[in-house]
Amino acid sequence: MTQRATIIADRVEAFVRDVVIPYEKDPRLNVHGHGPSEDVVAELRTLAKAAGVLTPHILEDGAHLSQRETAIVLKRSGLSPLGPVAVNTMAPDEGNMYLLGKVGSPDQKARFLAPLVAGTARSAFFMTEPAAEGGAGADPSMMQTRCHLDGNHWVIHGRKAFITGAQGAQVGIIMAKSDDGACMFLVDLPNPAIRIERLLDTIDSSMPGGHAVVMIDNLRVPADQMLGESGQGFSYAQIRLSPARLSHCMRWLGSATRAHEIATDYACQREAFGKLLVDHEGVGFMLAENLIDLQQSELMIDWCASVLDGGSLGTAESSMTKVAVSEALMRVADRCVQIMGGTGVSGDTIVEQVFREIRAFRIYDGPTEVHKWSLAKKVKRDYLKAQPGDHRGSK
Ligand SMILES: Cc1cc2nc3c(=O)[nH]c(=O)nc-3n(C[C@H](O)[C@H](O)[C@H](O)COP(=O)(O)OP(=O)(O)OC[C@H]3O[C@@H](n4cnc5c(N)ncnc54)[C@H](O)[C@@H]3O)c2cc1C
Repeated sequence: MTQRATIIADRVEAFVRDVVIPYEKDPRLNVHGHGPSEDVVAELRTLAKAAGVLTPHILEDGAHLSQRETAIVLKRSGLSPLGPVAVNTMAPDEGNMYLLGKVGSPDQKARFLAPLVAGTARSAFFMTEPAAEGGAGADPSMMQTRCHLDGNHWVIHGRKAFITGAQGAQVGIIMAKSDDGACMFLVDLPNPAIRIERLLDTIDSSMPGGHAVVMIDNLRVPADQMLGESGQGFSYAQIRLSPARLSHCMRWLGSATRAHEIATDYACQREAFGKLLVDHEGVGFMLAENLIDLQQSELMIDWCASVLDGGSLGTAESSMTKVAVSEALMRVADRCVQIMGGTGVSGDTIVEQVFREIRAFRIYDGPTEVHKWSLAKKVKRDYLKAQPGDHRGSK
């Protein structure tokens, strides 16, 4: 690992442990079940800036750390569920910043990316649509939101769902379909033509603004606010996809590591039937299995990060990593709850929160089954490529 990444990661970890963790009991963290309030976000970011750890994966000159370097920094930021919010490595902003850095024009970067990097604005990514209306979900090609050119403006109409952080965001990236195919637009928020209909009641509670159902009603966007070109939206989504998936793995690895630390602490201090819990084989084995899952997750993340650093889109590798890591860390969180008995399901530690929130990670950025399905298609494709001809019925 590079020296610069180690230094940044150590600083981030010290900040999260010393400054962020004491905020975990702040009453402003769960405003009506929809995440931390804007004032606590601003307060934490002021502290992060003063400590030199705000947006730590993007350097002073605008350069981005490599994916391998990003991995150790984002893992440390995830040691508290509040860490990524505090140091500005959270989703969807981290993925949106990455996309804007890759595809945005100089003007778009100055207007939309700069405030995100400075941590003074939040962003939202508008792709998913309500399932009840047959809109885009696991299958983005089902997108119903439409856009058409009218003079030098694009006009957008549709309804979106599960839009993380839309409430309170200043920057939006909206996906809609033109006659050419999928398109992406940059918009200022709030906007009267983008109406938050409701905030969903979800299993998680750490994202500022929660997750919104949003009506986009004849929104007019100047043509120069299209990101890239008309019809290329899905290829830009591909650029964002693998690193964004991987960064979820990085942050969750940090959270699961902390949950494991708390469960270890409990097992090494609490006694039952005349000895410490850790000395009961049933508990010791759970902790051992945690170590194995955590280590395997770290190795998968590092491997996938190397593939991306090599210049590949890493579509298959990030699918494999996302499935392996989300499933493994879910098991870690579940074991931590079990080891801690009743305390594990109480709000006394973040173990309960990690267990609850990591469940959704198996769904967003591609449900496990969709990744397995696309990997299975690759297996078949590679097989047919290696052995041309019709192999039906062959041994
Ligand atoms: C906490 C959270 C935050 C989110 N934030 C955002 C956001 O900021 N912006 C945004 O645009 N979206 C966001 N989403 C939406 C997320 O991307 C979608 O939930 C996801 O793509 C799945 O779509 P869906 O919910 O419509 O499920 P569906 O498309 O209805 O799929 C349901 C289930 O069907 C199964 N399935 C689907 N296809 C296949 C297949 N080919 N093979 C086998 N099984 C299959 C899977 O088990 C899947 O879980 C968020 C979701 C959550 C939970």
